[in-house]
Amino acid sequence: MSTIQTLRGPIDSSQLGRVLIHEHVFLMDMEYTINYRPDFFTKDTIDAAAVRLNALKAAGIDTIIDLTVLGLGRHVPSLIAVAQKTGLNIIASTGIYTFNDVPGPFGFYGPGLLHDAPEPLIEHFVRDITQGMGGTAIKAGELKCAIDAPGLTPGVERVMRAVAQANRITGTPITVHTAPAKHTGLDVQRVLSEEGVDLEDVVLGHCGDSTDIDYLMKLADQGSILGMDRFGLDLGITTQQRVETIAELVRRGYAGSLTLSHDCCCWSDYFPQVEDYRRALPNHHYLHIHNDVLPMLREAGVSEADLDAMFIGNPRRHFEGTAARFAARG
Ligand SMILES: [Zn+2]
Repeated sequence: MSTIQTLRGPIDSSQLGRVLIHEHVFLMDMEYTINYRPDFFTKDTIDAAAVRLNALKAAGIDTIIDLTVLGLGRHVPSLIAVAQKTGLNIIASTGIYTFNDVPGPFGFYGPGLLHDAPEPLIEHFVRDITQGMGGTAIKAGELKCAIDAPGLTPGVERVMRAVAQANRITGTPITVHTAPAKHTGLDVQRVLSEEGVDLEDVVLGHCGDSTDIDYLMKLADQGSILGMDRFGLDLGITTQQRVETIAELVRRGYAGSLTLSHDCCCWSDYFPQVEDYRRALPNHHYLHIHNDVLPMLREAGVSEADLDAMFIGNPRRHFEGTAARFAARG
């Protein structure tokens, strides 16, 4: 048992229920949206999001982790407004999403920089977790960073090491966006280990984009949880391939290392209209796993117990295990 922060306040880990471990509610370039998408800042956006999240709750999911951090348009007032209209637990995140440089506010501010100071990224992340986000008392419950095709650039490494330190200071679990084609999960495990993070505290996101079983087993053997988390993002890999990879990992005894999700959202400025997003990626919605993927997984030989591990047991262990290891360190 451990306490988990959600957008409606703390819950006990026993209340997590069935979890989608990598989703977003709103996803945007916040500066663009402020200037060019006033439609975001309306009650309609909040109401439409609540309808979609309530449909997910009705389909049997109790909790999502919203991995929208700086760089993806985290907007705390809108998130809180949506959370008030749904029974779904939404766990918010802190961290930075970048494939290259740190965001502008940190370019000159930090150890050895023009404004020389202890790493401000750590301070920002820890404040979100211990005091609240965006001037509210609502706390983040997950840490997030990213590494993609450019690899471990100086900016990516700085953010990753700061996320690691925030994990060490607060006992908050970590999700990392990885690029499996470049095997960047291995870079993540090395850097986080160097910072003293227990790799069992970590979900390696987007592992489901890979069919490289040897690579995936290597990551899981180090204790990390694999995010099979982009169902419906039908780019470069088919749903059938995603399903077969999971079924093969389950046959090899890795059901305890897998989690399921879509990495989708209710509203994004990545498309001119929400309808354009639906047209471009018709399967990329919160009910795709429930409606389309679960029958395929069962057909491929994945049992109900395996599915319960992916939806319930593994996400719960992600939080409870991280908290227990933190408490044990004193
Ligand atoms: Zn994501």
